[in-house]
Amino acid sequence: MASILALIALRAFLVAVFLGVGRLSLPVPVLSVAAALLLGGALFPTLRNITRGLLHRTIDPALPVVITIAILIGIRAFSTAGIFVLILLFGDLIKNIINRKIRESLERLTVYLPHTGFIKEGGAVKEIPLADIKVGDIVAVSPGARVPVDGTLLAQHALFDESVITGESKPIAKRAGDTIPAGAINMSDYVELSAARTSEHSAIAEIRKLVEDAEKKKAPLAKFIDRYAFWTVTVVGILSVGVFLFTHSIDRALALWIAMVPVIFALIGPIAISIGITAAARIGILVKNTEAVENLTKLRKLVFDKTGTLTTGHPQVKEVVPYGTPALAERDLLALAAALEERSEHRLGKAIIARAKDLGITYPSPENVHVIEGEGIEGAASGASVVVGNLGLMRDREIRLDPGIEQDLRNRAVIGETPVLVAVNGKLAGGIFMADRPRPETPEAIRELKGLHYELAMLTGDETAVGLRIAEEVGLAPGDVKAELKPEDKVRLIQEMERTEKVAMVGDGINDAPALSGATVGIAMGMGGTDLATNAASIVLVKEDFRDIPVIMRQSRFIIRVIKENLVAATAIHVVAGALAVIGAITVVQSAFFHEASSVLVLMNTARLFSISRNGSSVRTGSVPAASA
Ligand code: ADP
Ligand code: MG
Repeated sequence: MASILALIALRAFLVAVFLGVGRLSLPVPVLSVAAALLLGGALFPTLRNITRGLLHRTIDPALPVVITIAILIGIRAFSTAGIFVLILLFGDLIKNIINRKIRESLERLTVYLPHTGFIKEGGAVKEIPLADIKVGDIVAVSPGARVPVDGTLLAQHALFDESVITGESKPIAKRAGDTIPAGAINMSDYVELSAARTSEHSAIAEIRKLVEDAEKKKAPLAKFIDRYAFWTVTVVGILSVGVFLFTHSIDRALALWIAMVPVIFALIGPIAISIGITAAARIGILVKNTEAVENLTKLRKLVFDKTGTLTTGHPQVKEVVPYGTPALAERDLLALAAALEERSEHRLGKAIIARAKDLGITYPSPENVHVIEGEGIEGAASGASVVVGNLGLMRDREIRLDPGIEQDLRNRAVIGETPVLVAVNGKLAGGIFMADRPRPETPEAIRELKGLHYELAMLTGDETAVGLRIAEEVGLAPGDVKAELKPEDKVRLIQEMERTEKVAMVGDGINDAPALSGATVGIAMGMGGTDLATNAASIVLVKEDFRDIPVIMRQSRFIIRVIKENLVAATAIHVVAGALAVIGAITVVQSAFFHEASSVLVLMNTARLFSISRNGSSVRTGSVPAASA
């Protein structure tokens, strides 16, 4: 901050020297050279940007202003030129302060990472540079220290402050096997993690990289604003020449030109976007694609995947029921299912394995495993051919179900139990009944989204009765449920909806990747183990909190509203000042004042985006607590 002030003071000093020199009665050529040198020095950063722009064949928005100053020097209006530059410096000051704040809030995303990590090797713990930590290394984390790289918790239980990613500094309970992000603070005793990613690919590093990349891309409304600015420059240029020819007053013509050149317009979109998406990233909402921000404000329909989105995605085994004769033991059923699911990424599969392990069941290793997306998995284990999956898969494989069993499945579906059926050697052997609870925050967030007048729908591959049950629990209408869909059905449904209106799809980023990329805006719940960069969604809710959906909806509206407000306010000031200039009511200097006033107003209004609104209350996204180590 001090350096910004010092630089602006130095530039203002050059102008002051020039204004002093102007008071001396010196010959005009001397004054002209002094003006070019001193005012040029004061405008050095601007001139540098303009030159760089021209080298890349782009026109810096400040070019018209610099040309104006050159004209003022040319017509020997020296003090006007000097005062104009002073006024510009004030706008530069505000711009620099805001730019610095944007950079700082982005840097805060990674600045708290430690530079080294403690690795356990052959019983000894040694400290090594962050970049040298390899996947699979055992990382030792002392109480109060920050986690150096994303890792999997090896201790049974531990508490971590993940504010580096979530913006919320409350301790979160973690269990063995959970992923802990780099930058999280260990709030419990000494723990060990197994490094899951290298430092370069830690979630927090990826988030920062993606936010930086997103900011570089074209901001929302950019095309409109660019065209608007182009036409304003053209029209105002012609008008100014016209005013000069008509009134023979170069002062009026220049005053009009200065009042109306749309310099600030080039910044309206990018600054709002930078501040808005960095604020969102600070609370764990990652916008990878800035177009999504504008699109979110244009669409009225939100489609949710059920598993892992509306629900926790951590299903529990409720009951294991052998159906066959002779009946297999429950343990043997679980063992066969777990054997195959070992090869599946599906959440149901993971839950079955967890239950088998809890019960101390050892299961054989499978052969010829084949995953049927959205239906189940088949293969061979212990010399038997095994099919594990839903009713549809059993029908496809022509596995017979007694009417009594079908009735049992229906009864269980009504109370929200999803069947995972197990067939052995072509005969139904049993069912593993799973239940996945809605996320505790889902009903509240659904109410909020309804309050924002979104039309909502649920897509699921699960049984219709299970889908209806979850819908009722979270507050969706039965008519909003589309169930028993295969992954390709979900994609097709999204495409059909997209034919008539834009939709946003919220899903889990792994199973739902095709549907996410088919929607106008894809929103992924959680990082889902995949690389953020390759994640199909344009928005990633890093902390898997359903309430972040209304938050990003509001934030998008806020960003676009600020942009529109700025367009209207800046235009209004320009038009009023332009009119005053034409009738000769304001001088060139006063016009320059209006010009800067509109810029400063725009910047100040945009700075409101530094705080983000969450559930109606606004959260400053500035500070991150320091770790004690
Ligand atoms: P959702 O739409 O709820 O995310 P999916 O499309 O992933 O569900 O799967 C649809 C259904 O297919 C599941 O409810 C389950 O019955 C069955 N299924 C899919 N994969 C598996 C698997 N690996 N093991 C058992 N059942 C599975
Ligand atoms: Mg799913």
